[in-house]
Amino acid sequence: MSYDVIVIGSGPGGYVCAIKAAQLGLKVAVIEKRATYGGTCLNVGCIPSKALLHASEMFHHAAHGMDSLGIEIAAPKLNLEKMMAHKEATIKSNVEGVSFLFKKNKIDGFIGTGKIVAAGKVSVTAEDGKVQELETKNIVIATGSDVAGIPGVNVEIDEKVIVSSTGALELDKVPQNLIVVGGGVIGLELGSVWLRLGAKVTVIEYLDKLLGGMDADVSKQFQRMIAKQGMDIRTEAKVTAVEKTETGAKVTYEPVKGGDAVTFEADVVLISTGRKPYTEGLGLEGAGVALDNRGRVEIDHGFKTNVAGIYAIGDVVKGPMLAHKAEDEGVALAEILAGQHGHVNYDVIPGVVYTQPEVASVGKTEEELKAAGIAYKVGKFPFTANGRARAMQVTDGFVKILADKETDRVLGGHIVGFGAGEMIHEITVLMEFGGSSEDLGRTCHAHPTMSEAVKEAALSTFAKPIHM
Ligand SMILES: Cc1cc2nc3c(=O)[nH]c(=O)nc-3n(C[C@H](O)[C@H](O)[C@H](O)COP(=O)(O)OP(=O)(O)OC[C@H]3O[C@@H](n4cnc5c(N)ncnc54)[C@H](O)[C@@H]3O)c2cc1C
Repeated sequence: MSYDVIVIGSGPGGYVCAIKAAQLGLKVAVIEKRATYGGTCLNVGCIPSKALLHASEMFHHAAHGMDSLGIEIAAPKLNLEKMMAHKEATIKSNVEGVSFLFKKNKIDGFIGTGKIVAAGKVSVTAEDGKVQELETKNIVIATGSDVAGIPGVNVEIDEKVIVSSTGALELDKVPQNLIVVGGGVIGLELGSVWLRLGAKVTVIEYLDKLLGGMDADVSKQFQRMIAKQGMDIRTEAKVTAVEKTETGAKVTYEPVKGGDAVTFEADVVLISTGRKPYTEGLGLEGAGVALDNRGRVEIDHGFKTNVAGIYAIGDVVKGPMLAHKAEDEGVALAEILAGQHGHVNYDVIPGVVYTQPEVASVGKTEEELKAAGIAYKVGKFPFTANGRARAMQVTDGFVKILADKETDRVLGGHIVGFGAGEMIHEITVLMEFGGSSEDLGRTCHAHPTMSEAVKEAALSTFAKPIHM
């Protein structure tokens, strides 16, 4: 069989690239080694985590957020099996949606492990060992990423007691004690799920703050809020051992600044110290495809590897490991393969942490602007001064906007607060169009909405806020 494009991997990068290429008239096949399409994101990542984040938040709200609104209800009872069934049903409807879109766009799907034999040739090995060889003009590597482990520490993940995010999404009971190694997005989201359901959660982080790359104001405020919710946060702590015990597991860490080692016991330990590009068994060495010093497939601005006809996108290449970044690369590459001019604006890729409150950010942080020597101005507005936030009892957090001091062009936006993950997009669109804080501050916003805080933060950037 012969194709214009064969995509290896059906995550947000791969499946979106395949659909767009087919829409543009190319003959496309996708190879996926999981039983279902959708990659990490739909099967064991974004989608199941958000199903559990939502359900656990509802549980927590029913237990703690109703009385103050004048709604007196009995303490809610957790049915974890049913909550997990909700998560499974959510995954199923999403992965089936991808299968449907493949059929609709006449994309051939192959379940099996894809291997690049040479430029233009890919083999697919099915689970029963049957091998098929396919020919193609272009190969797209979209094989994503896998759990990275703790640098320098030998950890055996059994997905029961010592778990990765995949195991943490499938626990059959609420742990009494959960230790989260790594205070990044995935650890904090999944830690929040089990905290809300009743676990005592301890987060151990090497850096001096949670959410490493975020604006320092944001991560400081976030850390205060999450600690208030009951999460035990240990920063500047270097984990040196994770071992199984008779009753669970123990984690040892040493304070980064020196001092005695501390050992904690827990019934479950989540290792969430990051992810690494996944290229195992792909035949890259044989095909001569170069990797960079972090094991990522090396590409140029057009997603081209060093071998003609072989391209790569998503978590397996440089850039933030985010589903929407992979998707945008998928679209851009499909356009390039169809003879158009696809491109991704890496300066305007939002990032969201789906905790409660949410954290959302786009563009530069204040620290990045300082480091780059760019003169900037800051506008900030707290949700305590927003009418809708008061009405909904969600006054934690703020909006922060960073704009160029001379031109007023918005360079970054950061929000901590209820619904931050939705509100960030008005700053994202503004930035994509090169807008200024005055453009945003003079745009009429419906009242009363949380988004008025975004407008007020913009007003504070170029003039003065009204409600503060
Ligand atoms: C718990 C968790 C929560 C997350 N939440 C979010 C979120 O809320 N928002 C967000 O933007 N991102 C989130 N992410 C990150 C997101 O999942 C990734 O950025 C995204 O999935 C990357 O897409 P991709 O297409 O590059 O690769 P993937 O989604 O990893 O897909 C790659 C696919 O390739 C397949 N594959 C690999 N090798 C082969 C081979 N040789 N042959 C055939 N198939 C192969 C794999 O089986 C996999 O299905 C989360 C990740 C995790 C783990």
